[in-house]
Amino acid sequence: MTPRTATRRERADALGREHAARTVDRYGTREPRRIAQAAGVTVRTDEWGGLSSLALLGTYADGTVTLYTRQIAAAAAAVDVSESLATELVLAHELAHHTFAVDPPTFGETEQSGCRRWLSALLPGRRDGLSRDLEEVAAHAFVATLVPESTGEALDALRTYCPQTDPSIRYSE
Ligand SMILES: [Zn+2]
Repeated sequence: MTPRTATRRERADALGREHAARTVDRYGTREPRRIAQAAGVTVRTDEWGGLSSLALLGTYADGTVTLYTRQIAAAAAAVDVSESLATELVLAHELAHHTFAVDPPTFGETEQSGCRRWLSALLPGRRDGLSRDLEEVAAHAFVATLVPESTGEALDALRTYCPQTDPSIRYSE
């Protein structure tokens, strides 16, 4: 990893933490469901089981979070985390994307890898600005800041199940 990349990741991490702190201040709660409600974000569930080459636990687009219940259940079972906690963490992650959408960070990042462009074409409602990789870093930092410290282990387990470095398996977009 080059120093420049490390700096970008650190900035993305700090950005995610800032957004989480602002969200808690604004809505007076750390609970993802309450934040979604207060922020006017629609939360829907979908039974889509994913593709053999692509697992998605959740998506965010245009004010709506979609939680892929079957894939969340599979991921939760694989890493021995309760389904309700996994659902909460995925929702928190998608709420990070919501905050980036309504309060766009200026990051000067626009390049995307081929895989990311492919996913952008597949998934609607994406913006330029923060690159997808860095937005994922920021979103993870957002969740780590938002949820209680006691869930850190579960969050790490879920992240290990869906490593950010493997574009074919992601815990969310
Ligand atoms: Zn994401």
